[in-house]
Amino acid sequence: MCRHLAWLGRPRTLASLVLEPPSSLLVQSYAPRRQRYGTVNADGWGVGFYVPGRAEPARWRSARPLWGEASFASLAPVVESGCVLAAVRSATVGMPIEESAAAPFTDGRWLLSHNGRVDRAVLPAVRAAESTVDSALLAALVFERGPERLADVVREVAALDPAARLNLLVTDGSRLLATTWGDTLSVLATEDGVALASEPWDDDPAWTDVPDRQLVVVTPDGVSTEEIACS
Ligand code: GLN
Repeated sequence: MCRHLAWLGRPRTLASLVLEPPSSLLVQSYAPRRQRYGTVNADGWGVGFYVPGRAEPARWRSARPLWGEASFASLAPVVESGCVLAAVRSATVGMPIEESAAAPFTDGRWLLSHNGRVDRAVLPAVRAAESTVDSALLAALVFERGPERLADVVREVAALDPAARLNLLVTDGSRLLATTWGDTLSVLATEDGVALASEPWDDDPAWTDVPDRQLVVVTPDGVSTEEIACS
């Protein structure tokens, strides 16, 4: 996906995260401000979120542009969650455009979004992925290795494909894991929670940019960042 975000904190409506901010994912789907690759994100979108009493996330994905989704726009103001992962997609050349190619990908409790590209030919074979899109194969690899080993997987894949861009967002509903490897990511820590986003959704000066090649971990206790050392 080409722009993604995650929230961990007090429950917020999906609309307040995805649709309402002045530079929301909705706006980023047709007018991103910091996108380096691609100009619009019209090849689909997806949102995954957790609700109390249910371990596995709920998920809504589509192969259509987010700006045309009237039903989601109607529902999003009344659906709340304390952990949300959402993305809008600009398909890499040669990749399929289908609902199952849109993030977030899922396995059990986990959700994953990928902003970037990777040569599918170099990826180690894994069990069935949700789609043949590079991001779904990468997600399947992360799920198989264990999301705890996210930085190791990024290092491994980057060694196999030095041109890979591997900005990942992963959550199990209780923490957020993110990597920067070739694309932008910003963090906003507020009293209510923490947001990670490919680019800020507003001009709040509290947004800070995450340097490249970092692993970001967000828990209810705060945000930590460490370098992903090259192997
Ligand atoms: N390579 C992925 C895809 O085709 C993600 C693309 C992106 O980040 N723009 O969906």
